[in-house]
Amino acid sequence: MIAENLQQVRNNIKRACEAVGRDPDEVTLVAVSKTKPVEMLKEAYDAQTRVFGENKVQEIMDKYDRLPDDVQWHMIGHLQRNKVKYIVDKVAMIHSVDSLRLAETIEQEAAKHDIRVPVLVEVNVAQEDSKFGLKVDEVLPFIEQAAQLPHLEIKGLMTIAPYVENPENNREIFRQLKKLSVDIEDKNINNITMSVLSMGMTGDYEVAVQEGATMVRVGTGIFGERNYL
Ligand SMILES: *Cc1c(COP(=O)(O)O)cnc(C)c1O
Repeated sequence: MIAENLQQVRNNIKRACEAVGRDPDEVTLVAVSKTKPVEMLKEAYDAQTRVFGENKVQEIMDKYDRLPDDVQWHMIGHLQRNKVKYIVDKVAMIHSVDSLRLAETIEQEAAKHDIRVPVLVEVNVAQEDSKFGLKVDEVLPFIEQAAQLPHLEIKGLMTIAPYVENPENNREIFRQLKKLSVDIEDKNINNITMSVLSMGMTGDYEVAVQEGATMVRVGTGIFGERNYL
């Protein structure tokens, strides 16, 4: 079941790329495995998944040792500063950097391990009160400051688009994030790139890919509905 779902999602990404003349190899599928048991992650692993997305520090710690070493764990959820130390040397990327204080904490913890941590800046493009993330006009000043933290590797932007029935309704959100990343790229800020654009979830990842996503975060479409207790 998971293998079939994965195949379908990969095909959909491929078709979305073809529709706009992009190379499917530019798009990384992050399999969002939050709340799902390790057995299901192993099934996805056996079907060639290596990039998993989780939104809780505790869950990453619980699952980390139970999957092979070549898994790349992506922290996609809101990150509290006091928990950075538990995962800073375990994650391949943090998608949810949304304050200078958090960036500074990651800097300190990464320095202790003598590593550079790839991060994305979370942008609340739709300006939903319920969501974390910087406002569009806060992003450039933020990056100019965070770029000075040597153990942070700012790789791009991330957004969580609103929940919509019709994915077309999020196209403009994705366009705005893409435009913002191009504008920032044009500033040629030292020590940062805008090579990653993390946008699109189960309901709208094909539209996101058409608008330039280089990472899509798909949970339900791979692992099925989540049961929250
Ligand atoms: C849960 C989650 C996803 C995946 O959502 P689906 O709709 O199940 O694909 C993607 N991104 C973030 C930040 C999430 O928390």
